Amino acid sequence: MKRRNTLKLISGMAGIGTFGTSIVSADETWPREEKRSQRWFSHPELMDQLDNIQQRARANVTLEEIGESIEGRELVVTTVGSGDTDIFIVTEQHGGEPHGTNAMVEELQHLATSGKEYAEKVRNELTVHILPQANPDGAMRNQRGNAEGIDMNRQHHYPVGATNNPSPEAQAMIDYVTDLNPLWVTDIHCQGGAFSGEKDNPGHYYTSSIYWPTNPEADPEAVELSRQLNVAMWDQVDGYANAQLSRYPGGTGAEIARNAYGIRGYGSVLMEMTATHEHPALSGQMINQCRKQIEVMLEDTVDDVLFDRDPDRADNIPDRPARTAWKFAWDQPPHE
Ligand SMILES: [Zn+2]
Repeated sequence: MKRRNTLKLISGMAGIGTFGTSIVSADETWPREEKRSQRWFSHPELMDQLDNIQQRARANVTLEEIGESIEGRELVVTTVGSGDTDIFIVTEQHGGEPHGTNAMVEELQHLATSGKEYAEKVRNELTVHILPQANPDGAMRNQRGNAEGIDMNRQHHYPVGATNNPSPEAQAMIDYVTDLNPLWVTDIHCQGGAFSGEKDNPGHYYTSSIYWPTNPEADPEAVELSRQLNVAMWDQVDGYANAQLSRYPGGTGAEIARNAYGIRGYGSVLMEMTATHEHPALSGQMINQCRKQIEVMLEDTVDDVLFDRDPDRADNIPDRPARTAWKFAWDQPPHE
């Protein structure tokens, strides 16, 4: 009975969009361990996966605990590659948005174990740092906020070493990324099950939305690079059947990761997959597309073609439709 109530609550949270900053009690924590069929990782499962990848890797893979969540769960960055250029990717700042975590576990596995040309050249030319499930307390509850209901993607404006950040998860990321000084940062989210009236007809909805830093203080060169990364993803996904990209209607706040890391001078990209966990049939597509978007940015960076892309073309990426055009009621705050 308790389990059924929990599932009902979760369904309500994601389906009618009330999950905003609500806090799920510990008793209602979603037992992801019991839900393997839905393929989302609990935090312990994720830690096992990262260990497995490290053990099976043909290349150098390191796991580094960069901090811990409010409830003491490890925040682990997995690094693969030996190149001079560092890239940083984060998933699941919002605990109910698991597709990026699965996609990046698959991608890590590929980069660490494959002998194919793509994986070899990325490993040789780049060092890819991935922080999957940055908000593990939220992930274990399937909620947006951390254990105290704080939205960690509104806490990235704190300086390095700050001790008053209400999200230790965000502070750990700020400290790590700033020390790393990466070429670019990507922050992966899910923007919910918002379909333009064509739920059973993929291709008639935007499968992903993307964006670049828009805060006026963002470094102009970082913004240009971010726009080139957006164009790379747009060109790539446009070639797929049943997939379309749009521009995410995000704000200019300096506290949002997309803007905060642009202000610090790194290329910075937001990815919002159109997905919720209650539409499992679409999950595979979203996980694959998420990987493709990451792969084109990595490969473009290795091949140097990224820097030849016209950043002005980012303005041609279509706007995501207004909420009223979407099939499902959608009154939660923006998901970024
Ligand atoms: Zn989100």
